[in-house]
Amino acid sequence: MIPYGKQDINEDDIAEVIKVLKSDFITQGPVVPLFEKKLASYANSEYCYALNSATSALHTACLAIDLGPGDILWTSPISFVASSNAALYCGATVDFVDIDAKTYNMSISALKNKLEHARDNKLLPKVVMPVHLSGQSCDMEKIYDLSLEYGFKIIEDASHAIGGRYKNKPIGSCEFSDMSIFSFHPVKIITTGEGGAILTNNKKYSEKIQMFRSHGITRDKALMNQEPHGFWYYQQIELGYNYRMTDIQAALGLSQLQRLDKFINKRHKIANFYSRKLDSKNLVLPHCLQASFSSFHLYIIKLKIPGKRKELMESLKKNGIAANIHYIPIHMQPYYQALGFQKGYLPNSEKYYEDALSIPIYPTLDHKQQDEVVNTINRSIESL
Ligand SMILES: *Cc1c(COP(=O)(O)O)cnc(C)c1O
Repeated sequence: MIPYGKQDINEDDIAEVIKVLKSDFITQGPVVPLFEKKLASYANSEYCYALNSATSALHTACLAIDLGPGDILWTSPISFVASSNAALYCGATVDFVDIDAKTYNMSISALKNKLEHARDNKLLPKVVMPVHLSGQSCDMEKIYDLSLEYGFKIIEDASHAIGGRYKNKPIGSCEFSDMSIFSFHPVKIITTGEGGAILTNNKKYSEKIQMFRSHGITRDKALMNQEPHGFWYYQQIELGYNYRMTDIQAALGLSQLQRLDKFINKRHKIANFYSRKLDSKNLVLPHCLQASFSSFHLYIIKLKIPGKRKELMESLKKNGIAANIHYIPIHMQPYYQALGFQKGYLPNSEKYYEDALSIPIYPTLDHKQQDEVVNTINRSIESL
């Protein structure tokens, strides 16, 4: 079975992990800060903090912005549930902005409309969380302009998007946002097993992130309400969590980071091959924006023949290709339906869900397998 995504771990990666296992510190040692430094330098951000998942990174980012009960966060319904759950963890209210029918990212015109209405009803969001679906950046400059007009903060869910660029700046540089989040889950671009990171250029957020990821504890004298009792002293000044990454994970991440550009390059080669060979009469292929260089975490296609997507998925599965769907719209999940969201609320997202599928793309997918993917899809469509 050819999966839709898969990690690429080599002998160097394994050797780096073993080095940490044989060292004095397997967690909270020197490798996490080194990984953070390299990530910040790659993404061109001032600060970077590694955490034990992107989910905890999204939660921590919301906490750093002081999102809480009575506050509202807006995100895209075409994302993993972790995006909106982060706001619920904080006791905040979630709402969704429909997607653009071409890019499948948050629609700028839908956002604009929703903001106008929200201003009239005094229900403006404190945070907007755009999601860079499949690794193609949202139109961040436009979202940033709207944030100045309406006074919201921006957290980029860039879980798919490390290695991608927007207007020639690396995603994660936070040029048009307050914070950006990467995921290092094995299906993502680089992996640490489980893991995530927050990038920011804001010193205040950087202090809060460090505190919230480690129990709300600080060793910074400037943040304490009294003189330290001695060198051992620390204070808990917030209610934080244990969201720390281990040195074992960071060693894997650091080693993977060296191959990041190679991974992206390989993904682009596969994407180009697919775009040339797939049956574009019956499929909508990815729409690439001029301003964006995608990481191609996902290669999403849409079937133009109505009502036949399930049949296509089943035919692919029977022939050894495990396509997947990213995503079931979050507002259609039972948990969110219980919060009051109803089918029909976000028509573009719901229509997308009827037709879209993600086909295999990952660095070790070889030419023979790529041919097999293309031929199987084109053949399956003929027999629908
Ligand atoms: C994978 C993913 C997450 C969660 O990442 P974890 O590292 O698994 O916690 C959040 N948002 C999006 C868009 C994702 O794809």
